Amino acid sequence: MDYKRKAEELVALMTVEEKAGLCSGASSWYLKGVPRLGLSPVMVTDGPHGLRKQNESDLGLSQKKTVPATCFPTASLTSCSFDRELLREIGQAIGEECRAEGVAVLIGPGMNIKRSPLCGRNFEYFCEDPMLSGELAAAFTEGVQSRGVGVSLKHFAMNNQETRRLIIESTADERAMREIYLSGFERAVRKASPWTVMCSYNKISGEYASENKKLLTDILRSEWGFDGLVMSDWGAVSDRVSALRAGLDLEMPGPCPVNDARLVSAAQDSADDMAALDKAARNVTRLLLRAAAAQKRGYDAGAHHALARRAAAESIVLLKNDGGLLPAKTGVNAAVIGHFALQPRYQGSGSSRINPTRLDTAGEELRKLGLRFEYSQGYPEASDSPDPALIAQAVQAARGKDIVIVFAGLPDSYESEGFDRTSLSLPESHNMLIEALAEVSDNICVVLSGGGVMQLPWYDKVKAILYIGLSGQAGAGAAADILLGNICPSGKLSETWPLRLEDNPSFGFFPGGTRTVEYRESIYVGYRYYDAADRAPRFPFGYGLSYTEFEYSDINVEDGGLFVSCLVKNTGSTAGSEIVQLYISEKDPVIFKAPQELKGFQKVRLEPGETAKVCFSLSHNDFSYYNVREGFWHVEDGEYEIRLGSSSRDIRLRHTLHIKGSPAPGPDCRRTAPGYYNIAGGVSDRDFEALLGRAVPPGDRPDDEPFSANSTLGEVLKTPYGAELLGERLSTARSDAPEFFAMFAAMMNDMPLRSAAMFAPDLLSAEKLPALINKLNAQRQAE
Ligand code: BGC
Repeated sequence: MDYKRKAEELVALMTVEEKAGLCSGASSWYLKGVPRLGLSPVMVTDGPHGLRKQNESDLGLSQKKTVPATCFPTASLTSCSFDRELLREIGQAIGEECRAEGVAVLIGPGMNIKRSPLCGRNFEYFCEDPMLSGELAAAFTEGVQSRGVGVSLKHFAMNNQETRRLIIESTADERAMREIYLSGFERAVRKASPWTVMCSYNKISGEYASENKKLLTDILRSEWGFDGLVMSDWGAVSDRVSALRAGLDLEMPGPCPVNDARLVSAAQDSADDMAALDKAARNVTRLLLRAAAAQKRGYDAGAHHALARRAAAESIVLLKNDGGLLPAKTGVNAAVIGHFALQPRYQGSGSSRINPTRLDTAGEELRKLGLRFEYSQGYPEASDSPDPALIAQAVQAARGKDIVIVFAGLPDSYESEGFDRTSLSLPESHNMLIEALAEVSDNICVVLSGGGVMQLPWYDKVKAILYIGLSGQAGAGAAADILLGNICPSGKLSETWPLRLEDNPSFGFFPGGTRTVEYRESIYVGYRYYDAADRAPRFPFGYGLSYTEFEYSDINVEDGGLFVSCLVKNTGSTAGSEIVQLYISEKDPVIFKAPQELKGFQKVRLEPGETAKVCFSLSHNDFSYYNVREGFWHVEDGEYEIRLGSSSRDIRLRHTLHIKGSPAPGPDCRRTAPGYYNIAGGVSDRDFEALLGRAVPPGDRPDDEPFSANSTLGEVLKTPYGAELLGERLSTARSDAPEFFAMFAAMMNDMPLRSAAMFAPDLLSAEKLPALINKLNAQRQAE
């Protein structure tokens, strides 16, 4: 069916009230329909690592148990597979589960760039590189949508932290935005035509993303050709009419009759607003029509569990393996230490949390594969403080063993949606345990769980480290397969692991002030920075070990640099996969640039002794940067090196060639912003301002800023009236699941009054807000 035409016909039959009604949800998870025109309501639910569908009997924002669904590894781990086909398969499986549950749109993938390793939600995002993020998001999108279910790319855009995410202004220069923060979205939109995009909470260039016309219309629709629906993040709408004008179709959650009425009167007063409302109503209607076409069908939970296991196995990264400690032989005398071996940390906290259909544990899986071992808990379940008795027992178990496998990492309370991390440290109880075990064993393998980068003070004292991330409901089996050599590890890090927090490029400028966060480092994010600053990381981007070895040879570049190939041979004695990475580096650019950028990757599986030809197609654009003066992607004329490597710091083959650029000059910042040509030396205020092209906005909100709908609950609760009105109510309002308490508290503190109606509609509804705000301001004046 031509849904676009049908949607136009139906919207032409709607009243203005019906059109406006379609532009806000029916509830937390449903969109409205128009029954008289045969349009049924549809459900949208969170992902992105599986389906998180609230039970129909409990459709609020509660965190009560959701319907069982396959919990796949999080994006932070699956991105380490560098495997488009795998992401497509995961998408297909999740699409099937959505279809079985009557869900029209899976909200995800999350594709914000990891600007800082401290972002609490990094586990939900793919990586630090926009090309990798865009390619994987596109494949995942194609997978989900092939099952007649839509996705929502989120959070568009520049939502790279949890601290004050609902109100913060992300201040970045246009080039950083285009090249780093938007280009992954651009790739996914252009390649995979997602049904929907979700705008983020934060402000960009002084405007909330939900009201940012440049973002939602000029870039997303006019430049990239997006023709789906734009929905708000939950509670991200500030001024509904401005949001409509900017290109926001759907406000979530709903209903929001006050805002619907505002849309009606705007449309009645202005032909332009009526046209904008028609457009938004058509986009919602088209989604309803597309969703109605999906046929409800069951799915094979066993097959999806097996896929989740394979996904983890393709993604887990071997970080260290001195003396070939791994793989372990099943006949050895082993100790398995650590609470995570029996109670895995396998997924993240917040809106992506899934109720898994099954849950495997490493202890059980190792046993099933034939390893006999002595188990010891090692650290307490719920405390960071080391427990001397548990450590002593673990040391006892470890003594004299051929191998000691320690399961450690980040507990739930260390990373979550809603708040950021404050350090890269593991709990003291995990570090002390490993230090104590190292006193009695030279054969320690640490298996690390967690959704982000960790600091490893005991690095030199252990022989092997296996990063299993948040590996989903079946990840334990994959870890066991790799530990025992049934599977050869092949994942590579999609994020640089710095030696120290201070080494990361956003350090000192994360999470910013109460009003803005400055993206001072501009394009130097992740490996782009570590390479430019010549700073040695603990593990570089693209790094991961294998049980076999690969030899690269015969680089061949044809067609003016647009076709590249090489040979890769498995020279070891084990079958395994290699991820070949292609980086482009410009020699002596006038424009400041990262020393190299990822422009291609291929995963190839090889039997021992086997050789394969690995091929890459490039486009002229892969040699470009975003020219802010001209507003387009520009190729500088010059010498470029094409590099093929096993990681960003293990380049095996190089080829230099001349690329003919276009004559347009880019902004030469060598005199105006010299800091960006020597990033290790830091960026001055002047450098940053020169790049921004305007004064850096003040970082903090003034204490006497008048109260408005955008004042936060935290700010309001500091006033006597706010405390009296809301204090008790909000201190008792909390999530119904203990693992969400911290997230809920942080979110509440940073929540603007306009969004808080979601949680306290009786006190903070749109109708009641103006009177409350007047009272707060009057009280402040009287002080
Ligand atoms: C999150 C979104 C999520 C939505 C609905 C928001 O707070 O930022 O990622 O999809 O809630 O749960």
